Parts: sequence; C-alpha cells; structure tokens
Amino acid sequence: MKRGTSRSGDRGAYAEGAAFVEGEFVPVDEARIPILDWGFLRSDATYDVAHVWRGSFFRLEDHLDRFERGVAKLRLRLPFGRDRIREILVECVRLSGLRDAYAEVICTRGIPKPGSRDPRDCENRFYAFVVPFVWISTPDKQTQGLHATISRVERIPPGSVDPTVKNYHWLDLQAGLLDAYDRGGETAILVDENDNVVEGPGFNVFAVKDGAIATPDGGVLEGVTRRTVMELAADLNVRLERRPVPAEELRRADEAFVTSTAGGVMPVTAVDGSPLGDGRPGPVTLRLRGAYWGLHEDPRFSLPVRYD
Ligand code: PLP
Repeated sequence: MKRGTSRSGDRGAYAEGAAFVEGEFVPVDEARIPILDWGFLRSDATYDVAHVWRGSFFRLEDHLDRFERGVAKLRLRLPFGRDRIREILVECVRLSGLRDAYAEVICTRGIPKPGSRDPRDCENRFYAFVVPFVWISTPDKQTQGLHATISRVERIPPGSVDPTVKNYHWLDLQAGLLDAYDRGGETAILVDENDNVVEGPGFNVFAVKDGAIATPDGGVLEGVTRRTVMELAADLNVRLERRPVPAEELRRADEAFVTSTAGGVMPVTAVDGSPLGDGRPGPVTLRLRGAYWGLHEDPRFSLPVRYD
C-alpha cells in the first residue's frame, strides 16, 4: 500500500492515535484544524466513525457509504475518492499500532473566501483520525447495564437538521447528558415533540417487551450497529418493529439496550431510577450482544489492517 507522508518517523509518537490533516499524517495530539473552517465555526460538516476490533475494521464500507450519502446531502464535495479515503484511514490505524480503535472521517465546508458568506465559495476539506477504542458503556459496566434517564431536552427536530446525516449538532445531546448526571443517571435518551424516544449521545435505542423489540423508525441516525441488530434479529427469528416508541413504553419495558459503534449492543437496566425487569441485562439483549461481537469474525464484514 502506498504510504502517506508523515511528519514524525517515530511510531511511538502515534501511540495515542494518528490524524490526517492538510495532507499530512500527524500524531493525534499535534493535529490542528484552521480556526476559520466553517466545520468548526458553523458545524457545517458531516462525519462518520467506524471501529477497529482485534486488528480489523468492522463494516467499514457501510460507514463510508453513509459518509458519502451525508456529504452529498450537505452539497459538500470530498477532495478524495473512496479508495484514497479508505487508504488514509487504514494508514492512521497502522501508524498508531492500535488493535482496538475508533476511526473517524470528517468532511467540512472549509474556509470561505475573505468576506464571503456563501457556502458555495468554500473548498471543502477532509480530515481523519484514529484513537483508542471508545466505550459509551465499558465492558465492566455492560455486565451491570446502564442507568438512563429520559431527558427533558427534546432532540433537534428532523425538519431542522436531518438526523440521517451524521452531524456535530450536539448541544441538545450534551444538555441531555448534563441533565442525566444531575438526576443520577449515566446517560440520556432524548425524546421528540410527541414524547417518543429518539436517540441519545452517540447511540440508537431499543425497548424489548414480551420478547419483541421496538426501535424508533425516524428522527434518528440510521446507525450501522442498529442495522446490524435488525439483520441479526431477522436471522435469530426475534420480532423487531420500527415504529414510534413512547417514552412511557421504554419505562415499562422488560429490557432495553442502546447501540453504537462506540461499544456495540449495550444493556440498559434502569430508566429514570427504576429497574427494568429484574434489573439485570435481559436475555434478548445478551443474545444480540453475543451475536454482534461474533459477527466481527465474519470476513464479509471485516477488513484486516496490515500493521507491518
Ligand atoms: N445516533 C447518533 C446521534 C450517533 O452519533 C450515533 C453514533 O455515533 C448513533 C446513533 C449510532 O450509530 P452507529 O451504530 O453507526 O455508531
């Protein structure tokens, strides 16, 4: 594989992660973006995150498909094609030496011409970085399950910001998290204007009742982990419905879980201070979680990284 130019020849410098910024590979703690990039000043950007597990990317092409769809919806143009983007991301992983990693690609609007307020004048930019694996709920925590609170903060409506384009409009999610911590929760689940649950900071939401699963059909990012769960549920003959899920239904569920590239299928065992079922991760959740990690061995979904 063609290697990119990298500022530091010392592999140890990349132990905390590697980034690709302005055509160069740099240790992640040296990576800087220009302050005038509208990706920063206006959240005018889209991104995607894949993970590397035991030395292989999982469903990387699905993440890159979603990234390209987001780029097109925002009328951005990537400066590189798919092959070069994949190569850059693989090179970040190789430089870092990380076997379990969180790998992010970003396309920003870029810097306007001096004085211009026209997004069409910008040259769009591409950035990437890889850092050690990020867990929304650590493996230890997953044995107990998360305590989620249903937030009083509503998710930005889909008519304002399209949630299927992965975006940095996170002020509602961050406010939800702070609210959750104030109320003794460990994470937040946001609702829409009809008090149906939508999603949380970095994850999709699932409720299980009488062995059947329900997950919101709209107003959410179409998570790659969510899609994996849908496919696994079909394989395992578990009923799964995509439909509005009232907050009250989640509070009364037998079990619940959240899904993300940052941690997989993660049990939720309490909502708003009350345990779900017997207060332990439920059987449907555990079955799906096992199947999800098992799928990481499947060559159809994995791209091994060559570290030498
Ligand atoms: N919803 C939001 C708002 C997210 O940011 C994410 C991922 O970061 C997800 C859902 C889950 O998506 P995925 O399973 O592709 O990681």
